[in-house]
Amino acid sequence: MIRKTDPQAIAPYLKDASNFSLGFAEEVVIPETPEELANFLRTNNGPITVAGAGTGLTASRIPDGGKIISLERFKKIGGLENDSITAEPAVSLRDLQDRLKSSAFFYPPNPTETLASIGGTIATNASGSRSFYYGVTRDFVLELEGFLADGRSFRLNRDHKIDRPLELGDGSFIEFPSVDYTSPACKNAAGFYVQPGMSWLDLFVGSDGALGIITRARLKLLPRPDRFLSGVLFFAEKENCWKLVQDLRSDHAGALTPCSLEYFDRRALNRLRIKFRQIPDKVDAALFFEQAVEPGGDYDSLFDRWCENLLDRDPLLEDSWFAENDKDLEKFHGFRHELPVMINEENSRLGRVKVGTDMAAPDERFLEMMKFYDRELEAAGIDYVAFGHIGDNHLHINLLPEANDLSKAKEVCQNLATRILSFGGTVSAEHGIGKLKKEYFLQMIGAEALTDLKLIKKTLDPGWILGRGNIFDP
Ligand SMILES: Cc1cc2nc3c(=O)[nH]c(=O)nc-3n(C[C@H](O)[C@H](O)[C@H](O)COP(=O)(O)OP(=O)(O)OC[C@H]3O[C@@H](n4cnc5c(N)ncnc54)[C@H](O)[C@@H]3O)c2cc1C
Repeated sequence: MIRKTDPQAIAPYLKDASNFSLGFAEEVVIPETPEELANFLRTNNGPITVAGAGTGLTASRIPDGGKIISLERFKKIGGLENDSITAEPAVSLRDLQDRLKSSAFFYPPNPTETLASIGGTIATNASGSRSFYYGVTRDFVLELEGFLADGRSFRLNRDHKIDRPLELGDGSFIEFPSVDYTSPACKNAAGFYVQPGMSWLDLFVGSDGALGIITRARLKLLPRPDRFLSGVLFFAEKENCWKLVQDLRSDHAGALTPCSLEYFDRRALNRLRIKFRQIPDKVDAALFFEQAVEPGGDYDSLFDRWCENLLDRDPLLEDSWFAENDKDLEKFHGFRHELPVMINEENSRLGRVKVGTDMAAPDERFLEMMKFYDRELEAAGIDYVAFGHIGDNHLHINLLPEANDLSKAKEVCQNLATRILSFGGTVSAEHGIGKLKKEYFLQMIGAEALTDLKLIKKTLDPGWILGRGNIFDP
């Protein structure tokens, strides 16, 4: 087992993509086997924060004291078994995609950041552009192995429900506590997942490193589509883009079943134009879409259907982009990914803490939500960009305030949160709560529900050892 105590060696583990800079730790512990990890945990009684790849946006892997456990040596990908594969937590999404390239399968969760680790994506229940159609990470985790904070091991599959006790490797048991809280029904990554009759496995998915340490997962795969039909549509008026999204979603019986619907507002496009000069002038919004062409499907007739459907909807068809091959598709994904990268770089360069949202609302509030964002943000007088998973009513609003406008920007975020919660939405649809959104989370679920979640935490981690400072405090 490698142990690092030199501050310079620890420093890289005190960062993630949130630009949060207040972390500190006494040591980084790097086990090489599950046995080493278990032995360490059995003798440890101080706080532990698990490090993934550090692409998270909520500072959840950044400790405020104690030790860091990095599973960076856990990098094995197992063999394909029918339509599933095993992976250790440090395997990156890119490694997994590369491994699957020569197979007939693919792993749909695609949080655009391919350096993210399997462990981190499971701990945050990451989603992404294609989750609109395929679902979120949770939907693709079939089995989980790992350890509780005290070193007891667990091995779970989907049949192991919470109405039976959790069986641990040493033969001991833990009963699921009696709680009233249930997680919201919309796309959600805020707090522990709790639903009646769920599996124990689902409790660990999305638990932000606060309930257990994941050392291996079996992941579900889907047959790889023949190809993806894809385009970036530009609109002269944003309202026409919103209307198209709404119609595409309600056209359940139609042939247009996009797996990604990703939005860019005018300000996002203006920023992207620095790197993508081909973006037409004077556009008000853009929509990146993809639809899988399943094996045996007819690409050309699907393409014709999209064009027919778009004709009377006012995208600037002459100026819009359509992928002609896999390279183009990759470029479109790069285009989508570039925006948060540019914003994160800009924030780092200016030493600006991220003031961004990750909220989602239920379908029926979609247009109301879009109009509300538009009004509220224009009135605030602070620079911002709005982009993201519009198909799931899930936009990322990034406020980009001057230093003296920071508290005003936070106030704006608070107003957005209050309204989205009044719609029955969530304050985190995919990034998790981590250390940066705890107040919003309390506002979302209320004190009583928080007591329920604390009870779950204490049941599995009575010493409050794992992920201290994430989601809520003792
Ligand atoms: C440019 C950019 C775009 C992004 N776009 C998206 C997006 O579209 N959708 C989306 O969902 N996310 C997105 N993200 C966020 C990010 O990629 C995810 O949160 C990712 O899932 C975190 O993985 P990680 O390995 O980097 O984890 P880290 O950031 O290192 O850790 C995240 C959490 O997971 C815990 N953890 C890590 N490994 C384990 C383990 N083995 N056992 C238990 N707990 C563990 C940590 O303790 C921490 O609480 C984006 C990030 C960037 C930088």
